[in-house]
Amino acid sequence: MTRFIFITGGVVSSLGKGLASAALGALLQSRGYTVRLRKLDPYINVDPGTMSPYQHGEVYVTDDGAETDLDLGHYERFTGVPATKQDNVTTGRIYQTVIGKERRGDYLGATVQVIPHITDAIKEFVLDGADGHDFVLVEIGGTVGDIESLPFLEAIRQLGNDLGRDRALYVHLTLMPYVAAAGELKTKPTQHSVKELRSIGIQPDILLCRSEHEIPLSERKKIALFCNVREESVIPALDVSSIYEVPIKYHEEGLDEQVLKIFRMEKDSVPKLARWTDIAQRATKPEGRVKIAVVGKYTQLLDAYKSLSEALTHGGFANNVKVDLDWRDSEIFERENPAVYLEDVHGILVPGGFGERGVAGKIEAVRFSRERKVPFFGICFGMQMAVIEAARNLAGLPNAYSSEFGETKEPVVGLITEWMQGNVRHERNESSDKGGTMRLGSYACDLAEGSRVRDIYGSERINERHRHRYEVNITYREQLEKAGLLFSGMSPDRTLPEIVEIPDHPWFIGVQFHPELKSKPFDPHPLFASFIRAAVEQSRLM
Ligand code: GLN
Repeated sequence: MTRFIFITGGVVSSLGKGLASAALGALLQSRGYTVRLRKLDPYINVDPGTMSPYQHGEVYVTDDGAETDLDLGHYERFTGVPATKQDNVTTGRIYQTVIGKERRGDYLGATVQVIPHITDAIKEFVLDGADGHDFVLVEIGGTVGDIESLPFLEAIRQLGNDLGRDRALYVHLTLMPYVAAAGELKTKPTQHSVKELRSIGIQPDILLCRSEHEIPLSERKKIALFCNVREESVIPALDVSSIYEVPIKYHEEGLDEQVLKIFRMEKDSVPKLARWTDIAQRATKPEGRVKIAVVGKYTQLLDAYKSLSEALTHGGFANNVKVDLDWRDSEIFERENPAVYLEDVHGILVPGGFGERGVAGKIEAVRFSRERKVPFFGICFGMQMAVIEAARNLAGLPNAYSSEFGETKEPVVGLITEWMQGNVRHERNESSDKGGTMRLGSYACDLAEGSRVRDIYGSERINERHRHRYEVNITYREQLEKAGLLFSGMSPDRTLPEIVEIPDHPWFIGVQFHPELKSKPFDPHPLFASFIRAAVEQSRLM
């Protein structure tokens, strides 16, 4: 029997609902249960693929090629369960489905309405593919009180009735602000947020209260009373220094036990938390530190590179070091000497990106790491920058550029219009829709014998996730290889360059895919583990 846990948020956004859901999933897993996590996003975009990272943070890509909310990254990192297309839906996609059906005539004769048509489509999404899992955790994006989230809240309210109380549970995440002048934690915002939820028919079973300070028992009692929740179901969620401490902390506060108690399952399992105590230990008690410069464009908003910073942290776990990230807007290198900013770092990473702004600075950062033999990791756009740099400065092609930025004489990076994914042929052209038409999802890649990447992965064929429109142009391969840039990873049909490396360098690798999407705290991605190891070695030389 599959049970459903619905997670809503109140008071303010950015309380970490995604992390809370992921941590609860991990705790249930640690008791031997299988879990699946899903996210309902109230915005109108069909998926976040067309949004700037400044709007909604990173776009997380699944194996099956869906562009999804970054919370799915937390779910995967905490539970190891690969997310799919079926695990994230938006208002836009729900309406697209319902309108599609209306046009086909599926509702002939009926007036199509939010209730029941939209809410039915939401419920269908929540229930579809849930069988076979012990728990499905469903996070509702946004904050209770938002206009956009109402149909989603109505749908999960109905599901409470449809499924019955022994199969549905509501967790509400709120904030208890501390008013310094009064020296007090305040419960009023939580009371109001729960009142709002109850006015639409949802009585939360568990309240997770984010707070910067210990919550006194008297305040827990007060919340319980005013919000109609049992006292032991008011769970404090205090700030922690590393997100990887969250599962252990929630367990200590009794979150998983309360969930199981409400479902009358508390006696059926014992938690095995060794994995999480080990990770929390690595996260909080590192034996050294390294500094990595991330030279990108969206450096003002760290959510834009969520999986990347987590993967670097995991690389640190693999080497027992803390990874300090030095976020650098690449545009600065267009005006100033990179050495001023990069002299003291132990590794340089150029991440994914779009558009021409900051490109010249990224190319300068690549040049600095190549010439000064500082470990370099280029991801997607970062690999394309490495190829342009090598073409210009090693292969004697001063006009080398990417056709992403307009017409160019030497398109060493160009738009790909036809390619294979396994046996499936994909086709695109300049005027194709922008949404959902990049090379997306998991693709195989063969690693050249004797290459560094072959050694790092320890296998001949790997599968990694992609999200890009442009590709390194295979026609320049010979020229670039002669100049010292080895094409060490290729698509199985040998048409798409997937990895480049410079053998004559301590660590210089560019990958067309996004390895950060598959890294886990308990299973750091081999490229990140190896990159951080190289950075540790670099730190010993300095
Ligand atoms: N803008 C580049 C492309 O579309 C790189 C994309 C990325 O880094 N994810 O190919």
